[in-house]
Amino acid sequence: MKNNFALEQAISFRQAAPAEITARQEPLLQAHLRQAAKAPFYRNLFAGIDCRPEEITISNLASLPLTSRHDMEAAPEDFFATPSESHVDLALTSGSTGSPILVPYTAYDLERLAFNEQLSFYGAGVRSNDRLLLCVTLDRCFIAGLAYYTGLIKLGAACIRSGPGQPARQWELINRLKPSGLIGVPSFLLKMAIWGKSHGYNPKKSGIEKLITIGEPIRRPDNSLTPLGHELEEAWQGRIFSSYGATELETAFCECKAGYGGHVHPELMITEIIDAQGMPVSAGTPGEVVVTPLGVEGFPLLRFRTGDIARLHTTPCACGWQTQRLGPIEGRLAQRLKVKGTTLYPEMIFQALQELPEVKASYLEIKAAYDLSDDVHVVIGVDNPAGVEVNRISDHLQALLRVRPEISIRNRGVVQETMEKAGGRKLKRFFDFRGE
Ligand SMILES: [Zn+2]
Repeated sequence: MKNNFALEQAISFRQAAPAEITARQEPLLQAHLRQAAKAPFYRNLFAGIDCRPEEITISNLASLPLTSRHDMEAAPEDFFATPSESHVDLALTSGSTGSPILVPYTAYDLERLAFNEQLSFYGAGVRSNDRLLLCVTLDRCFIAGLAYYTGLIKLGAACIRSGPGQPARQWELINRLKPSGLIGVPSFLLKMAIWGKSHGYNPKKSGIEKLITIGEPIRRPDNSLTPLGHELEEAWQGRIFSSYGATELETAFCECKAGYGGHVHPELMITEIIDAQGMPVSAGTPGEVVVTPLGVEGFPLLRFRTGDIARLHTTPCACGWQTQRLGPIEGRLAQRLKVKGTTLYPEMIFQALQELPEVKASYLEIKAAYDLSDDVHVVIGVDNPAGVEVNRISDHLQALLRVRPEISIRNRGVVQETMEKAGGRKLKRFFDFRGE
């Protein structure tokens, strides 16, 4: 495929009027549909609904069936649109929802991925004189670390490949190489700041201006910072830019300085938000994020259901770009809870708990109740279980979320260990026993 990955052109694309942006996306969608039709899954899908890829445009894209992770788990190789000799990187999904899926990247797909991150970093104000400490792994078949790395290189910025963990090593690199930004999981970046402070370093004077975060939300649905987000900005005296992506999408969103959603890259994706019936919702309404990544060669997807809940903002952004932005992830569809008529997501409980300084770790256990409601059990880890008032925590949750789940207080280390043991690459915070 022909490479058209130029930054200047991409910037002018973002400054065009929304109608012009859509018009420019049409030929990109056409090419993507033709590529997808080379994969057995989509060839069969088009044959099954008696439709030719040429008949699909942006305005009738929603007439195509959705693609789910379940479809991929059944037969991942049916999604391959190029022969296996074209695959150069074999990525695996994190497997947090089911078994990991193989997502093969071609050399072209890796260039496209680098372009995606170049645009994301550019939007976050990263320039060629920046150096970023990458506290995310590049190995273990994980794609995000590689995406950040290649994106920084493409932008001409410097990347310090530190990887996750070991605050002492991170501080050695900060002191020696003077990065201007950090890339990592919010709770770890906060841990690094706390470790630094207790070992005689001053995070506020460390020269860190930007924090590119992944994996945990740092904003509420209204885009205000969560307690974790606030603490993180305060600890480093830096600005947070939250990013969101999925391995299957080969595409990611990242916030700009406006901090009002991650920008959709119009040459690389079409984003929809749908309700529980699969119908589109209006701008600013939460629903499931559905993405059609454009221009993917090896593993092209159409209308992929991410299973994540967020809202799409379509008004022009304060940063001057006209492109849509995806708001913070509000929860996962599979983790939606019904508690006595109230719908809530685990993330809402975790964010409420972040406001209580004594809560050092927490996870949820969910069981089905007899009245089609979910029994939510909140397990909280603290430093001194005997000194904690359960009623106060219960009142806090009731005030914020209008539910009063069962709460257990345990030793911080025990709770942490349970989450680490059950989790793979990430800590497990949601134990779902509803199907049992
Ligand atoms: Zn913006």
